[in-house]
Amino acid sequence: MPEEAGASVTQRDYDAAWMLELMAELMPCAYCRMPMNYREPKRHPTRDHIWPKAMRSTVGNRTGKLWCCQECNSRKADKTPSEWLAMLRARHETGKWPS
Ligand SMILES: [Zn+2]
Repeated sequence: MPEEAGASVTQRDYDAAWMLELMAELMPCAYCRMPMNYREPKRHPTRDHIWPKAMRSTVGNRTGKLWCCQECNSRKADKTPSEWLAMLRARHETGKWPS
């Protein structure tokens, strides 16, 4: 939704937004399980589409999203669900991302 030019923002809104950001940071990344926070670019909370854009018209309304850190979202990029799951499994088994 486009932002309205000049919309007023109250201190109450700033305080509420701060609380909502804290709530987002309480969740670990759905993929790597590391804590997320808004101060570190790699740990920034993001919303990831489980299905890559190129597959979404084929899979119809199965366009689920989840919260993950920026690093995982960038690594996942446009990988298929099966490619990404294989990478995640390798990471969980070895403790590092496959190259
Ligand atoms: Zn992550």
